[in-house]
Amino acid sequence: MPMRALRTCHYPGCPTLVRSGYCPTHQAMRAAEVNYHDREAQRLYSTVRWQRMRVLQLSTHPWCAECLRANIYTPATDVDHVNPHHGDQQLFYSGELQSLCHSHHSSKTIREVNERKDGVGVNNVSDVGDASVGAGPHEKNSQCGESA
Ligand SMILES: [Zn+2]
Ligand SMILES: [Zn+2]
Repeated sequence: MPMRALRTCHYPGCPTLVRSGYCPTHQAMRAAEVNYHDREAQRLYSTVRWQRMRVLQLSTHPWCAECLRANIYTPATDVDHVNPHHGDQQLFYSGELQSLCHSHHSSKTIREVNERKDGVGVNNVSDVGDASVGAGPHEKNSQCGESA
């Protein structure tokens, strides 16, 4: 009778016995492969080409796109890819861009990371923005008029 609760690591040639999938070493290696794309993304952000694109984007769209939805003019500090590029050069350089303030960019990045963890491919993030805009019943006329 076969007593093989354990099997060898999925990685070709690795003799380590595991219950399923990869041994800890090769599990870490696979995680590093995922991180590779993040590192590649970091590298892309430091290129001269991106620096130029960034300056151009901020000069043509100086206000945070998310804040603008709520009729708030916040100077944008970050240039964001509307669609996550995950280090893909093609998407990185030719994807659609938007200017965001730092807090909106941070919250969008966190949301994207969470979506990746859940494995849910939610592309339509605009619903979230619309909901937050619609949540304020007293539009611009009550608050902004007085503060000025
Ligand atoms: Zn292994
Ligand atoms: Zn903003």
